Amino acid sequence: MTEKYDLHCHSNVSDGVLSPTELVRRAHGQGVTALALTDHDTTAGLDEAKTAATEVGVKLIAGIELSASWKDKTFHIVGLGINPDYPPLFDATRQLQLIRFERAEQIAAKLEKKRIPGALEAVTKAAGDSMITRTHFADFLVSHFHVSSQQDAFDRYLAKGKPAYVATAWAEMELAVNWIIQSGGVAVLAHPLRYKLTPKWMNRLLTAFKQAGGQGIEVVTGRCNADEIKLAAKYANDFELAGSVGSDFHNPANQWIELGRLAPLPVNVKPVWELFG
Ligand code: AMP
Ligand code: MN
Ligand code: MN
Ligand code: MN
Repeated sequence: MTEKYDLHCHSNVSDGVLSPTELVRRAHGQGVTALALTDHDTTAGLDEAKTAATEVGVKLIAGIELSASWKDKTFHIVGLGINPDYPPLFDATRQLQLIRFERAEQIAAKLEKKRIPGALEAVTKAAGDSMITRTHFADFLVSHFHVSSQQDAFDRYLAKGKPAYVATAWAEMELAVNWIIQSGGVAVLAHPLRYKLTPKWMNRLLTAFKQAGGQGIEVVTGRCNADEIKLAAKYANDFELAGSVGSDFHNPANQWIELGRLAPLPVNVKPVWELFG
C-alpha cells in the first residue's frame, strides 16, 4: 500500500483549532495514512493523538515544531519520530513554555501602550495549559474588533517590525537540532521559503543546519506552487537533505489548507520517511 503522508500540522495544544483526536480523525477522513503531529514547542498532544490514530488505523509519527534562533532570526525546525520522553527535549518544552509566557507578558504590555488592554488575561485563558502563541493574540484582537482578521492582526500589530512585536531568543538552532536527533528523531527545516532569505543567506543557513545534523527540509507545503516546490527540491538536493511534505494545517476554517492536500514529492528528492527507524 502506498502511504499518504502529512508530516506537519497543529492541534489545540499549540495554535491549532482541533483537538488531537479531531485532527487525527479529520486526517483519516482526508485519506492521510501517516500523520505527524508537530505542535509548536510542545509534545503534549501526542498521547491523545496516538490513541486516536490507533483507533482509526492511521500511523502517528511523534513530532514537534521547535522555534529556534540562528543569527538572531527565528526559524522553525520540525522533529519527526522523536521520543517526547527524552529528558533534554521534554525539559526544553517546559523552558519554551516559560519563554512563551514571558513573551506574552511583553506583547500584552506593548498592546496596552496602544490602548488595547486585557490581552494577557484573554490569551492565558484561551491557551489554558497549552502554548501561548501569537495566533492567540491575533484571535483576541479579532474578537475585540481591533482588527478584521488574523492576517490583519499580524500585519498591523504582531509581525516583525510592528508595534506589538517582541524579538525572542529561542534555543540556538544547533541545540534544537540536537534535542531532536538525540531523542531519536529526524530534524527537518520547516517551510524554507517563508523566511525570505537571499540565496546567499539561504546557503549559509542550510550549511549551518547540515553541520548541526539536520537531515531534512520541507519541499512540499500546504499552499505552494510548482516553482516553489522546484526551488525547495533544489535546496534538498544541493545540500543532500531528504524532502518532507507537510500541510501546516491549523484551522478547518482556512479553505486554502487542508490535511493531506499536498502535491507529490518530486521523484528526484529522497523522501524523509526513508529515514524513519
Ligand atoms: P509564534 O510561534 O507564537 O510566534 O506564532 C507563530 C505562528 O503564528 C505561526 O506558526 C503561524 O501559525 C502564525 N503566523 C505567523 N505569521 C503569520 C501571519 N503573517 N499571518 C497569519 N499567521 C501567522
Ligand atoms: Mn502556528
Ligand atoms: Mn512554522
Ligand atoms: Mn507549523
